Amino acid sequence: MDSNRLKNCAICGRLFLQVHTDHCLDCYKKIEDEFELVNDFLKVEDNRLATLAEVKKATNVSAKRLIEFIRDGRIFAGDFPNLGYPCNRCGKLIKRQVLCNSCFDEFATDVNRVLKSEQLADSMVKKSEPHKNRGYWHIKKSK
Ligand SMILES: [Zn+2]
Ligand SMILES: [Zn+2]
Repeated sequence: MDSNRLKNCAICGRLFLQVHTDHCLDCYKKIEDEFELVNDFLKVEDNRLATLAEVKKATNVSAKRLIEFIRDGRIFAGDFPNLGYPCNRCGKLIKRQVLCNSCFDEFATDVNRVLKSEQLADSMVKKSEPHKNRGYWHIKKSK
């Protein structure tokens, strides 16, 4: 038996033979059952406006799992106006990724700023450590 494929289930921690999921067959079945529950619930026209909390209450499926379904695209939140999960930064209702658009824009700007200040810091470090660089060039030139 190939012991490399024995893994601990990411959900229940039990050792299992990995085929193509990071959780065991029992947990896989459980998730599929939960998905069916949610799917059936959302198929009902009257439930189209349900929020995440309402779906959770009606199906007993954890919010974490519901968010996974949405994030994985198994549940297309775009079809359900009130279904979504909070943005990681500001808490606004979103339906994909982990940040809302405005937070993502700000985040991207922040990253740029950090990158620029890191480049600046880099160039300052280089200036303050001239000996290392000089030594390097000496070696190069003496070849
Ligand atoms: Zn498991
Ligand atoms: Zn946000």
